[in-house]
Amino acid sequence: MSGGDKLDFEIRPNAAPVSAADRAALLANPGFGRVFTDHMVTVRYADGKGWYDARVEARGPIPMDPASAVLHYAQEIFEGLKAYRTADGGVTMFRPDANAARFATSAQRMAMPVLPPEVFVDSLHKLIEIDREWIPTGEDGSLYLRPFMFASEVFLGVRPANEYLYLVIASPAGAYFTGGVKPVTVWVSPDYTRAAPGGTGAAKCGGNYAASLAAQAEAIEAGCDQVVFLDAVERRFVDEMGGMNVFFVYDDGTVVTPPLTGTILPGITRDAILTLAGAAGHQVEERPVSFADWQADAVSGRLREVFACGTAAVVTPVGGVRFPDGEFLIGGGKPGRVTMALRQQLVDIQRGKAADPHGWVQRVF
Ligand SMILES: *Cc1c(COP(=O)(O)O)cnc(C)c1O
Repeated sequence: MSGGDKLDFEIRPNAAPVSAADRAALLANPGFGRVFTDHMVTVRYADGKGWYDARVEARGPIPMDPASAVLHYAQEIFEGLKAYRTADGGVTMFRPDANAARFATSAQRMAMPVLPPEVFVDSLHKLIEIDREWIPTGEDGSLYLRPFMFASEVFLGVRPANEYLYLVIASPAGAYFTGGVKPVTVWVSPDYTRAAPGGTGAAKCGGNYAASLAAQAEAIEAGCDQVVFLDAVERRFVDEMGGMNVFFVYDDGTVVTPPLTGTILPGITRDAILTLAGAAGHQVEERPVSFADWQADAVSGRLREVFACGTAAVVTPVGGVRFPDGEFLIGGGKPGRVTMALRQQLVDIQRGKAADPHGWVQRVF
């Protein structure tokens, strides 16, 4: 079927699923991104034909020709979101429509076809339904969903491919922080930038991550957990981290995050935090923050808290900042009160423990 916004998925259950006992053992300590469910979604696309062969099938290797375009020119995008078990035995997702919309804008930036958002969301429902036993039951567990799409055409010419493969895989995840939320130390890279104006910074593409890894390695080398990237033009203003957006909390309660100018990934957690902070009575500002001001305000005490946010860890306090010429602490290196309150509010909404006034939680069943 092509052109339409609806696609029928053929369900082919895995003939040799993981046994209940082995699954229970894996779910006892899944970590992040190492354990996978029994199934995956695959949907194909070809120019002139549209989207076709939508399936839920046994998870397994995908045959790839060595000349598949993605292996050479990195035409690839992805998403990440979580499904949660509810107290009444149901399952929910957090803002899947926002991920579907972002997947569409990422596709447009990378000259890829747009998967209808309805098909994107439906594909998640289908995978969750068949792999529901893989959702951890624990307080902090979730099923991480990874939709992605790449150029599958066998062709070495440089142009947008005319064949694509869309997939969804799922990975049970345990608590991100074991033994309580721990502030991270971040490294401000003097050498590397992540995204330039007109580039792909606002698209969730694998290439952005590939470009961030040398800086991330530099951060680890410097004894830090994560990199903070400064803007690529002046190297003055804070953009974001490799995979998380950044927030600043000042002594007058103002909550600030850099604006979406095209070099920053429009995080769905970022958007939710802006809404929650405003509703909690904070003055909320989307404006540039220079690294010089960050340091001066941290030292003067005007800047009280800094945190990073994204789907995987939700909200992570930043306790220290390191750069080639020195380092400084934020809030004495301890998690801040506003940071932890926003984190708790968001986690409670995501897990169905608090009211959802913004209609963010979608019931799967
Ligand atoms: C995915 C991502 C984020 C966080 O987005 P969420 O929708 O909140 O998970 C932030 N920065 C980058 C570079 C990302 O890829």
